[in-house]
This record gives sequence, C-alpha cells and structure tokens, in this order.
Amino acid sequence: MNRYFVTGGRNRRRSQRMPASKANQATQGAIPHLLGIALAACVCALPLPAQTASNDPLITLTSVARVRSLSPEEANRHYPVHIQGVVTYMDPVARDLFVQDETQGIWMLWNATLPRVTPGDLVDVQATTTFSDFAPDLLNPHLKVLGRAPVPEPRRVSFEQMASTLVDSEWVEVEGIVRQEEYLHRMPTEKQLWMDVALPGGTIDVQIPWDGSPVPSGLVDGRVRLHGVCGAEFNASGQQVAVVLFVPSMREVQLLEPPRPDPLVGAPTPIGQLQRFGYHHEIGHRVRLAGTITAVMPSRGFYLQDSSGSVHVLTRQAIDLAPGDRVETLGFVGISDAHVQLEDALTRRLGSDPPFPAVKVTAEQALSGRYESQVVTVEGRVVGRSTLRRQQSLLLQQHQTIFPVVAAQGSFAGSPPAEGSFIRVTGVCVGDLDSSGRSLAFKLVTRSPDDLVVLQAAPWWTTGRALGLIGLLGAASTFILAWVFVLRRRVQDQTRVITQKLAEEESLKNAAEMASRAKSEFLANMSHEIRTPMNAIVGFTDLLLDTPLDEEQRDYVKTVQFSSNSLTHVLNDILDFSKIEAGQLNLEIITFSLSTCLQRVLQLITPEADRKNLVIRLDIEKGIKDNLIGDPYRLHQVLLNLLNNALKFTAQGFIAVDIRRLETSENSCSLQFSVSDTGIGIPYESQARIFESFRQADGSTTRKYGGTGLGLAICARLVQLFGGKIWVKSVPGEGSTFHFTARFSHALQEATPETVPSSASTECA
Ligand code: ADP
Repeated sequence: MNRYFVTGGRNRRRSQRMPASKANQATQGAIPHLLGIALAACVCALPLPAQTASNDPLITLTSVARVRSLSPEEANRHYPVHIQGVVTYMDPVARDLFVQDETQGIWMLWNATLPRVTPGDLVDVQATTTFSDFAPDLLNPHLKVLGRAPVPEPRRVSFEQMASTLVDSEWVEVEGIVRQEEYLHRMPTEKQLWMDVALPGGTIDVQIPWDGSPVPSGLVDGRVRLHGVCGAEFNASGQQVAVVLFVPSMREVQLLEPPRPDPLVGAPTPIGQLQRFGYHHEIGHRVRLAGTITAVMPSRGFYLQDSSGSVHVLTRQAIDLAPGDRVETLGFVGISDAHVQLEDALTRRLGSDPPFPAVKVTAEQALSGRYESQVVTVEGRVVGRSTLRRQQSLLLQQHQTIFPVVAAQGSFAGSPPAEGSFIRVTGVCVGDLDSSGRSLAFKLVTRSPDDLVVLQAAPWWTTGRALGLIGLLGAASTFILAWVFVLRRRVQDQTRVITQKLAEEESLKNAAEMASRAKSEFLANMSHEIRTPMNAIVGFTDLLLDTPLDEEQRDYVKTVQFSSNSLTHVLNDILDFSKIEAGQLNLEIITFSLSTCLQRVLQLITPEADRKNLVIRLDIEKGIKDNLIGDPYRLHQVLLNLLNNALKFTAQGFIAVDIRRLETSENSCSLQFSVSDTGIGIPYESQARIFESFRQADGSTTRKYGGTGLGLAICARLVQLFGGKIWVKSVPGEGSTFHFTARFSHALQEATPETVPSSASTECA
C-alpha cells in the first residue's frame, strides 16, 4: 500500500508506508470486469524478462501487479509505466489517490498540476517506477481522464484479511458497529470524518473526506456497511498498529441498523454481570454502567465499582473525574489480556459518594483473582524500587508473595518508602491473567500519596548498605594488601642493600680486627725482645749507682735510672695491653693470700704517699676469707694501677682501699674493691670514656701528670677476665672512687708467700 495518513487534529501516531513485500501478496484481488480495460490477467502475472545489462531497453509495465512486483533495485531503474484504471479514492487535501486496474490497486501522490479526479473516473496513467520507502512507487505520474467507469465490485473481507495486508490498496466491503465518530477540521472548508468501527475480530479506523453531502447523525452504536480502500497505520519501526479503511464519500456508508433508541433508559447493567459466563448483552452494542469511581488512571480511563463488582473503563472523552465520583457510563464491552473492560466509553458525572471502603486482604487473597479491579489494602515489606521511564514502582513482599505497586500518576509523590520499610498499600488490584482467566500475578495501583502508609521505617542496616560496606572493606583490603605487597618489596630491597652493606662492613671490620690483632700479636711477641734490654739497662744502671761516682756522674746516672724506669713502665703498659688484645693473656689459678697481696701493693705506694703527706687507709670487711684461688699478679696489677692514679692525682688528703663482700658461698666469693682518693676528680663528661684505651680525662693531663691513658683500659680488661666489672664515681675537685668486682674460689689450704708479687713489676710472662 502506498499512502500516508493526514493526522489533522486527531490524536494519532504518525503513519508510515506499508512494506512492499506484504503489498505484493495482494495479487488475488483482480477485478474481472473493469470497463475498457482488456489486458489479460495471465499476461499481467508473467514475471519480468531478465534484463541484466543496465543499458538494455526497459520494457513498459502495463499493470499494477507488475509494478508492485519489482524489487527495490528494479524499481529504481525507472521502468516506464502505462496503466489504465478506475479511481477508487481521492483526497485532494491529503493528496492521496488510489487507482485500481484489473490486477491490483496502487497509491500515488496527487498534485495540483494533475486533473482533479473523482472516484469512478477511468484514468490513463503514465509514469516511471521508483522505490522510496517500502514499496515501488509511481514517479511523476501523468494523468488523463478517459471517462467514467463503474467502481469495481467490492470484495467482502474480514478483519483478519485486512490486518494481514493481503487486500492492501484494494476496494473492499466490511460490516460492523460504529463505536465512535469524530469530525476533524483540516482546513476552514475541509472536514474529515473519522470513525472507529468494530468488526468481528477487531476494530478498524475509517477515514472519510467530507464532500459537503449530509452526514447521518448519531451513527455510534449503529450497524453499518462500508466500501473503501484497505490500508494500514504503521509505527516508526514499520510495524502495523491499526487497520484503516479509506472510504471515498458518505455515499459508501450504509446504515444497516440504527443505534438503539435511548441507551440511558432502563436499569444499568450490574458490573459483576459483565464478567459472568452466560451474560448476553446485545453483541457489539453499548452497555450502560453506573457506580463510583475508585481510581482515575491518567490517559487510561478509570476504575468503576458498584456493589456487584469493579471494571476498568477506557475513554477518550475529556472529562474531569476523581475517585469518589458517582457516574454513569456508556461503552462497548471488550477484552484485553483476558480482562473484561469497557471501551470507547462516554461518561456523565451524577454526584459524589464517600470513598469506596478498601477491603483488607492478604497478598494470597489478592492473587486469587477474587478482588480483580477492586480497591484493596495489603501490607508488606519493600524489597525493591525501580523507575522505568516515568513509571515508578515498588516491590512488596508478604510472606512468600512478591508483588509490584505502581502509582496511577506514574510516580509516588515525594520519595517512595525505602527498601526494608514495612508499609500498608491501598490501591486497585489489577491481576495478570492467563488465557483461561486464571490469576498469575497481580499489582496494586495507588491513587494518591495517602495510599502509602509506612508502618515501620526501614532499618538503617540494609542489604544494600551491608553489600556496600563489604565492597568498601574488600576494596580497602585489596588496597592494603597491594600496599603491603609494595612495602614488602621495598623492605626486601632495603634489607638486601643493608645486608650487603653489613656484609661489606663485617668484612672490613674483620680485616681491621685482623690487622689490629696482627699488630698486637707482633707487639706481644716482641715483649721479650723489648723487656730484656730494658731490664739490662735498669739493672746495670742500679749496679752503676753502687759504684764510686763523682757528683756529676751520679746525677747523670740517676737521670738515666729515672728515664729507664719511666720507659719500662710505659713499655709494660703497652705490652700488657697488646697481649690482652691479642688474646694471649691467660689468668693464673693459684692459691694466694689476699691480705699479703694488699700489703705488698700498699708497700709500693707508701714511700710516695709519705712524700706527699697522704694518709693511706685499708679496710677489709670482716668474714672475707684470706686464702683465695685466683690470679694474685693481675689483682695486684689492677690495684697498683688504681692506687698509682690516686697517688698521682691527689695532692692532699687520703687514699683508701675498701674491700666488701658481695656474695659468699662455701666454695667461692664475689668481692668489691674500692680505691678512693681526695684528688682532683674527673669531669662528669669524661667519666665514661676513661676506660677506653689511650683516653685521658682531658688533654692537659699528659702534660701535667704524664701517663699513657692505657692503665684503666688494662684494668677494665683484666676485671673482665676476673668475671667482674669496673666503674668510677667522681666529683670534680673533691675526689674519685674506682670500684671493681672480682670472683674468687675459696682455698682449702694456706697460700705460700711466694705466690704473691713482691715488686712493682707486673711482668708475669
Ligand atoms: P694514665 O696513664 O694517663 O694515668 P689511665 O688509664 O690510668 O692513664 O687514666 C686515664 C685518665 O683517667 C687519666 O689520664 C686521668 O685523667 C684520669 N684518672 C684516672 N684516675 C684518676 C684519679 N684517681 N683522679 C683523677 N683522674 C684520674
């Protein structure tokens, strides 16, 4: 079919052209007796000769069927067309022109340069083919009116045949009941009549250009016979959405049965009867209902309820209605999705009633279908929400039943209840029925914001929030794991670097220690070589002093004696320290007398102490056993070192030696030795470092008091070998006390005097 709708003021979808493939099936619509047209049907049905080369001469097509059988590529080769047919429909405002020859009907676009033909004109049409939308079209038609011819005998068709497009563009006849009629003013002088006509099987749209002739009034509910051209209405995807009959004039409308005299007379039909089996209203004719409106559905009519039931009423009437309005309505009974409904209704408001009381039901009862189209109240928990286009919906659950709730207005006023809330909903119960009318599911349609009542607000802790938190924790854990991984890599890298450095340092340290030990070993080994000549010098100097010498010689020899003693002292310190550092110093384990050891040490310092007028005190705690097992030589050496320092750094006052018992057992004892003086004291900041080798309290010490800074270092290492420790307490300007501890075993027998050192020399090697 090739025709367009003129939409005018009528609220219709924009129409599209029908696909050619469908239209091509309509070849059986041949009209055998068109006057003056003698082309044989068999010739028209022949396929086109193959014309492969584009420069082949194009044959002239002489039938509509031939034109409509062209493929898009063929139609676009612009075949010449020469046909003769009779005009079946002409609308100069919409510029729709239908012509039918003995094979088929075809649409063409009329324009003002063409003669203004009327239905029944026999026309000669010359044009070329083209393919614009869905079917081959006639391009630049030239029209010549040959005369008049009777319009072909219409073919009686059913709704199904029209809907199948088998009779597209063909002159047909139908019979049905007018459901609605409407006049449209397309131009000040041009009017068009639209009708909805119900045929058995469906409703068609009828379009009639008004030619000024009188129109029978009040066609609605009347039975009519119509002659016209079959067409269709399409949506943007090319799908047929309505069947249209193009009726050329009111002359083709024949009223077979007038509408019922007065439909408003008599008792209205109870709504409950509409759904009931065995109810026989006059088939196809209007029924009258009266009741109270329970819900108004914008653009979809309203729900009407009386004491016997409830029904959905569909109307295109512009009327302001609200729930609670008492109305009567006239409409046609129809069925949609197994629901009985009233269609094309005309409604009159009679008054208002109190709102219809809602029945409180369970979800299970609502599902039973017993409350179809009625206002009910159901309680449930909100388990979901959605907004599709402009339709908001809630998903409610009551026990095992889940059902949707939608608002008649599309959206709930304000924000709909949150997921998890427990709510009470009042609304129209609309069932989803199968073909046998059994309820499969249902929804509630709310009418106003008051229809939703929150009985219990949603708990804060919802599944969504829990999932969100889990997601967040998951993301955080992933981030932390990734971070830990990065950190581990960094730590591993750093550890590798540090380990490498430590290994390097360790090997450097080992090398340094080996060098130091080698040096110490060398010195220790040289001990004998150095001490022997020194002893010789000291010995022979002493012998020399016993020989007769004059005053000057004696003076010189005494200087040599002093110097060689000092040198011996320094050498002893250095050699001892080297021996300890080289690990070559081993302690003696012999029995000795503690008191004898102390006496001998004090004997050595007494002359100098006397010379300096210093008092020497010795205090040994009672109970300390005298016979001990240990190394008396090294104990002697430590005490002598400390006492020599005390002597050296004390100008007046006293020097004291105290021995205390820390612990005693039957076999051993731990003793604390303290050497005090009233000398110059040691600055606080130097007290910790004087036990390091070659360290003195300050730089001026060597200049003023001499010394090497090795004495205390040797003491510290010897005390360590005793299994003890050494420390100092000193107040600068007041004096110092050096403490050290040592552990000894108790001896079972007395010590022999020889086991205790008797000279100032500490050389034991
Ligand atoms: P030195 O041979 O220099 O005496 P030491 O190791 O015996 O070496 O002593 C280190 C430093 O400790 C001394 O130079 C001195 O400054 C300080 N010192 C040691 N004993 C005393 C003390 N009784 N009174 C004051 N200062 C002392």
